[in-house]
Amino acid sequence: MYDVVVVGAGIEGSATAYNLAKNGEKTLLLEQFPLPHSRGSSHGQSRITRVEYGEDDHYAVMMKEGGKLWRSLERESGTSLLVNCGCLSVSKQGNSYMKATISSLSRNGIKYDILTPGDLRDRYPMLSLPPDYVGVFDYSGGVLRADKALRAFQTLFVKHGGELRDGEEVTGILPGSDVTIVTSQGEYRARKVVLTLGPWAPKFLPKLGINLPLETVLILVLYWKEKKDGEFSAGRFPAFRNIRENGGVYALPSLEYPGHAKVCYHDGPETDPDSRDMAYTGRILSTMKSYVREHLPSLQDTPSIVESCMYTNTPDKQFILDRHPIHRNIIIGAGFSGHGFKLAPVVGKILSELAMDKTPSYDLTPCRIDRFSSTKARM
Ligand SMILES: Cc1cc2nc3c(=O)[nH]c(=O)nc-3n(C[C@H](O)[C@H](O)[C@H](O)COP(=O)(O)OP(=O)(O)OC[C@H]3O[C@@H](n4cnc5c(N)ncnc54)[C@H](O)[C@@H]3O)c2cc1C
Repeated sequence: MYDVVVVGAGIEGSATAYNLAKNGEKTLLLEQFPLPHSRGSSHGQSRITRVEYGEDDHYAVMMKEGGKLWRSLERESGTSLLVNCGCLSVSKQGNSYMKATISSLSRNGIKYDILTPGDLRDRYPMLSLPPDYVGVFDYSGGVLRADKALRAFQTLFVKHGGELRDGEEVTGILPGSDVTIVTSQGEYRARKVVLTLGPWAPKFLPKLGINLPLETVLILVLYWKEKKDGEFSAGRFPAFRNIRENGGVYALPSLEYPGHAKVCYHDGPETDPDSRDMAYTGRILSTMKSYVREHLPSLQDTPSIVESCMYTNTPDKQFILDRHPIHRNIIIGAGFSGHGFKLAPVVGKILSELAMDKTPSYDLTPCRIDRFSSTKARM
């Protein structure tokens, strides 16, 4: 009998399990694949972090604590997890998201610069942006070393007394005052269950009577070679986001594969996580080749390395952090919509609070299940 079983050892489940074990809860973390794996959403070496959050100020507020929690994880694990190269967001002058970003940064007391088209040209000669583009540089932003962060949460979870079983798929959940968790290898019982299933959430949750409007999309992770050595190193090039109406693009400095910057399209074709790479990606690839040719001419215009990852999107791109509408001892963390990594320490704290029947540290109204009017749990 466990206090809590967490299903899914991606970044959100691992952060939750870590928080539970640290709070003395007898916790089991179950993962369907042998770890580490590259089948979900949390693999790879890098993710952008930033406090600025446009219109979604509630995430900016969470990120103020998120930054501190990442630093504390660095100290506890003795691992460097953050590269403080800042985060530059650019868009056409007058863009409403950029205006909201600036007021969110001011309101939250975060240091930032507003960059004119001339400033952008002077500071970032490797960018070739339209003449009406402006930028905001968030000094608190940068790059998270994703694979190291995931390992840190899992290692510390075990160090705090947690039990981690990988290569064990959860095939069924039997609700009740105690929950039975049926796996490919046996059965467990727990007072609470946290489901952090990533792209498998829309396939699994209907078994528990919940049909959420989640869409799983394939994201191409593209690495482009620098034409001039070191031009995209973290000292010269920051984390970068181009806010565009016809599909956002983001880039990271050359921290992973020497001499290669990572530049990706912030969307992709719908896919099934069990046959992820079967989705057609030709259109994304050609869009990105044109983008790099036009706006990042210091990179070669064909990617040298192509990897795959998945987003699990909600229609409003807000997370789902809530209890099951009927079975209140089943807690769900899902729909992280391509921006959940940086917030994982806070998500882990919130989901663990729900599992421990504590009042959550944040107002979870935007993340409630009942915001989807058509989503009704079947009795
Ligand atoms: C290319 C890419 C770039 C991104 N960039 C950023 C960024 O710059 N900044 C940012 O903040 N976020 C970013 N994100 C988003 C972020 O990485 C995700 O929001 C986050 O990783 C989601 O984690 P998760 O734990 O929900 O899902 P996952 O990592 O997929 O974890 C879910 C786990 O559950 C397991 N599982 C599922 N079903 C079962 C079952 N039945 N039994 C047992 N185990 C099961 C899966 O195997 C998986 O390991 C990016 C995502 C991608 C794909």
